[in-house]
Amino acid sequence: MVAATGLLGLNATALAARLAAREVSAREVIDVYLDRIAAVDGVVAEGEVWSAKPAGELTPDEPHAYLAVTAAAARAHADDIDARRAAGHTLGPLAGVPLALKDVLTMRGAPTTCGSRMLEGWVPPYDATVTERLRAADVIVLGKTNMDEFAMGSSTENSAFGATRNPWDLDRVPGGSSGGSATAVAGLLAPLAIGTDTGGSIRQPAALTGLVGAKPTYGTMSRYGLVAFASSLDQAGPFARSVEDAARLQSVTWGHDPRDATSVPGEVPDLLAHLTDGVDGMRIGVVRELQGEGYEPGVEAVFAAALDRLSDLGADIVEVSLPHAGYGLPAYYLIAPSEASSNLARFDGVRYGLRVDAATAEEMNAATRAAGFGPEVKRRIMIGTHALSSGYFDAYYLQASKVRSLIAEDFRTAFTGVDALVSPTSPSVAFRLGDKTADPIAMYLNDVATVPASLAGIPALSLPGGLAAAPDQEGSALPVGVQVMAPLKRDDVMYRVAHALEQATGFPALPTGQRAVTIEEDS
Ligand code: GLN
Repeated sequence: MVAATGLLGLNATALAARLAAREVSAREVIDVYLDRIAAVDGVVAEGEVWSAKPAGELTPDEPHAYLAVTAAAARAHADDIDARRAAGHTLGPLAGVPLALKDVLTMRGAPTTCGSRMLEGWVPPYDATVTERLRAADVIVLGKTNMDEFAMGSSTENSAFGATRNPWDLDRVPGGSSGGSATAVAGLLAPLAIGTDTGGSIRQPAALTGLVGAKPTYGTMSRYGLVAFASSLDQAGPFARSVEDAARLQSVTWGHDPRDATSVPGEVPDLLAHLTDGVDGMRIGVVRELQGEGYEPGVEAVFAAALDRLSDLGADIVEVSLPHAGYGLPAYYLIAPSEASSNLARFDGVRYGLRVDAATAEEMNAATRAAGFGPEVKRRIMIGTHALSSGYFDAYYLQASKVRSLIAEDFRTAFTGVDALVSPTSPSVAFRLGDKTADPIAMYLNDVATVPASLAGIPALSLPGGLAAAPDQEGSALPVGVQVMAPLKRDDVMYRVAHALEQATGFPALPTGQRAVTIEEDS
């Protein structure tokens, strides 16, 4: 990847301050980002909406974060913000800051593919609530990011449009399914991004790319306009280069939405009021079941160092057991595919997206679905259909739902004794492209530490804890994430703990790995 300018190295809060002080215009910022995307990401920078090159034409040094770049709309939005600022209008706290949007959320006038051939060419006629709130906050959408097809995966290799690469080491995966959003922020192709997390798809890529990524409390981020994978789990959330940036982005996008039937009513807490209060006197639980066997030694070492830091900051560190957490992964891999098999039934070739014509409607449906879905999506549809079928429903789906209730109960019990829980985010550092594509179980094991919080609906965040060597490569240094979990609707506590740990950690904010981005201080 080529060198970037100093403006690109600024995190969102710093950039917003420079914009507010009129030291730089929103249009200048957008143009710097668009120039960099055009130069490095592997897009054809032509027309109002730029498209990513076909997978076969991408080169090994193109990260492929974006599927589409809404260049004309972003420039127009920037000009509008600059005009309103010049006219003395009051603008939001992140006004003029660019953002990359995962391609599972709709945005009027831009294609939404969900990383699938099934939706190729579909331009939604409406904005997701999250998109609408970003616009209301004057956050500028740069484009739509690559993802595992329909958000099913942990590496972004399941995208129908080719894999995204990790800016820390371009031969490795950025995690998934929100890998495009993670690479956009880590690769200095956007200062902020929105991803979605059903079982870990924000937290795991954040961990693997050295970012902060949060899954808010289920029901606090509107699912209106978010193409459904597993409706009882899906939640959008922020990617950022700092805890404060992530808290600011969540603050402008979350809260009740009457258009989402599962939206939590009532007020959401202020995420910034106590952000810097520290952890002195807090009780923080270490989850016994989310460590040990299966976690790389480098991950364990970084996690142990994080616990020492929290203790040095005055937190009381106690071991806590979530007795049913070990059943989280199998329960998740029944519940999520079951809901997916139902949700994905709507892609039938009739109203929008791909259609493969055939003699009868039924043959058309079958031919369209056979051509439109990739292998992992088909696997999930088959697992889910089986788990929901008569005769198997009680043994699989119902049983998994009971496990889910037990895990939620485990967390409730744990939070009667501690303010927050911590664990490693992912059992490994970023693995090599292709390493796990032939082994679905190995891929699913990425989610072992993230799915318990998903099943319980509680807020959970990953922040960088340090660097560790990849087990297969001497001298490598790759990011390791620490997960912070808090009780339902206590996202404020989650951010406060994460902020304290971040301040004590001193993580290198920008990729330092092999073939990583380099920064030149010229602005
Ligand atoms: N990796 C998990 C899966 O494949 C989680 C995906 C997600 O959170 N969207 O289902």
